[in-house]
Amino acid sequence: MPELVFFSGTMDCGKSTLALQIEHNRSARGLQGMIFSRDDRAGEGKLSSRLGLVTDAVEVEDGQDLYAYIVDHLSQGGRADYVIADEAQFLAPEQIDQLARVVDDLGLDVYAFGITTDFRSKLFPGSQRLVELADRVEVLQVEALCWCGARATHNARTIGGVMVVEGAQVVVGDVTHSADEVGYEVLCRRHHRRRMTSAAAHAAALSPDVLPVSSS
Ligand SMILES: [Zn+2]
Repeated sequence: MPELVFFSGTMDCGKSTLALQIEHNRSARGLQGMIFSRDDRAGEGKLSSRLGLVTDAVEVEDGQDLYAYIVDHLSQGGRADYVIADEAQFLAPEQIDQLARVVDDLGLDVYAFGITTDFRSKLFPGSQRLVELADRVEVLQVEALCWCGARATHNARTIGGVMVVEGAQVVVGDVTHSADEVGYEVLCRRHHRRRMTSAAAHAAALSPDVLPVSSS
């Protein structure tokens, strides 16, 4: 039976690496995948991992019908034996419904990879819809660690190095080094709740009020 599988996790948990591994294993068996991505760090029309591997992908647009896209592709003599959707948290809920239809009506396996929750620890709409519709949700066992050494389960956003919990859900990190530079860091839940990033922890460790105080 074809399946819609949601591989979920935090940033840095190796989702894209697994997506590329699945694609490699299947193409080695002569199968051809339809690969969707959106806002990949390597740029438009790419699926890349932090380990430096990259493959071409179809860049998903706002309002694009993914089911219709695949039907068009097949009707023009194209081939698709399975579907990979990376950065699936950035897809609209309707696009997740379209992927479920690809499984049910076209009989293709769909493997979606995405970050579960945003920097406010709220579900991304695309990820929520995947949790609702997927035949299977695989929570990737996180290799990423918080600065304290605990398993990093939450995504933090920083602006100019300071953790924030308000703002637009999607802001792709920029590479300029301005004072309002947006960055991301994975943290354990405890330190996410305390808004304690590695920089904040380092600053606190150096602050005089936590040094031993002599009463003499
Ligand atoms: Zn921690």
